[in-house]
Amino acid sequence: MIVSVNPANGKELARYELHDDAFVDNALTAAANAQKAWRRVPIEERVGLLKNMAKALRSGKSSYAEMITREMGKPIAESEGEIEKCAYNCDFYAEHAARYLADEPAPSNATESVVEFDPLGVVLAIMPWNYPFWQFFRFAAPAFAAGNGAVLKHANNVPECALAIQDIMKEAGCPDGLFATLMIDASKVADIIADDRIAAVTLTGSTEVGAIVAAQAGKALKKQVLELGGSDPFIVLADADLEEAAKVAVKARYINVGQSCVNAKRFIVEESVADRFVELFLEGVAKLKIGDPMERDTNIGPMARENLMSGLHSQVERTLASGAVLKTGGKPIEGAGFYYPPTVLDNVKPDMVAFCEETFGPVAAIIRVKDADEAIRLANQTEFGLGSALWSTNIERARKLARDIDAGAVFINGMVASDPRYPFGGIKRSGYGRELGIYGIREFVNIKTVWVG
Ligand code: NAP
Repeated sequence: MIVSVNPANGKELARYELHDDAFVDNALTAAANAQKAWRRVPIEERVGLLKNMAKALRSGKSSYAEMITREMGKPIAESEGEIEKCAYNCDFYAEHAARYLADEPAPSNATESVVEFDPLGVVLAIMPWNYPFWQFFRFAAPAFAAGNGAVLKHANNVPECALAIQDIMKEAGCPDGLFATLMIDASKVADIIADDRIAAVTLTGSTEVGAIVAAQAGKALKKQVLELGGSDPFIVLADADLEEAAKVAVKARYINVGQSCVNAKRFIVEESVADRFVELFLEGVAKLKIGDPMERDTNIGPMARENLMSGLHSQVERTLASGAVLKTGGKPIEGAGFYYPPTVLDNVKPDMVAFCEETFGPVAAIIRVKDADEAIRLANQTEFGLGSALWSTNIERARKLARDIDAGAVFINGMVASDPRYPFGGIKRSGYGRELGIYGIREFVNIKTVWVG
């Protein structure tokens, strides 16, 4: 049984029966069969499905956005933005997939030698709750365009969203069986990964679960893409535009109530401008409106689950106990719902919890450093390597420093955000593989050499 709870008031929303083993077995057979036919459909026709997915998303936008907010507490305006972004991603790949997957000549001494991009088969998608639509459609649009099928194991605190995704695929005209949502417990995943009808695995989730899934997929020698946790640095150098940096920093930390893999989490600031930056940052934080996530002007709604809130609070307490300075926030808000206030911890040092661990919620850690070299060194002193931001008015120098940052992305004078036009993913314990852009669509393909003598 899956029980969904509204994090804004802690009340039960609904109960869902789990799918049994026979349902899963049928779904895998149907997906494998449907994919064999789908791969023969020319890509120019396959992208028609993506255009219809975009239409279905847009036509149900307000109801899907409310669903997201109801189940995981994201402020409604951000939920609407999520649905729009999913639709844009489908349109984007509908337009570009054929070019991204066109045969590539690989001239040699053969009469002809080319590289083809053939589908792999049925992909198991394991997805998290924090962007319950986006995480799926980010993977699915390119995967279906490339000729793959998919089955989805979604996070069990967003079951209504998981089932709505199935409805959207149906409304878009997805061939019968090519896609299915599986309402299953995480303990069932290992057998599905090992199953011959599954060709590959994609997981967006925590580093801990990433390591488990990677081992299972590795044992079965199956291709995997892992989009895992992050502790992104947001570096502010002495010559940065401090007003703008602080304004963007507040958004970069608190969007999605701080529950995004690419939220800026560690603010590494040159000592000479740190007091001013903290002052401006706190001014921005004070303006954030905490409240009912269904209200349009709310910036900070509840966290998605009670255990996530208590885990975050424990991280804050342990960081303070080791000497950090609390500037604002710092304990759960009393009353119904899982509300944690925007929290700022100053003087955080590299051995403290808020530096070493991912803080998945509205908590900013300020780290003061003596110069740019120390900033880069501390930015890299983490097990993660997802995104990063670097603020400086000297672009030439910033471009040089960006080379030294160990991360899947460096945003200079901006905040990290995913976009179908460029690749997204991490290194180190943030995972491997890429989504989005041309690199994303080439993950779940067989890069096949065809040689003609
Ligand atoms: P999570 O606990 O790792 O869950 C992710 C998914 O894995 C859920 O569907 C979950 O199902 C499933 N799962 C849990 N245990 C499993 C197991 N033993 N075997 C197979 N599947 C299992 O992560 P989360 O708390 O939902 O999401 C937050 C994390 O995701 C953060 O660390 C965040 O940084 C990361 N994230 C990364 C990206 C990225 O693109 N890099 C994007 C978003 C989030 P149940 O719900 O049933 O447990």
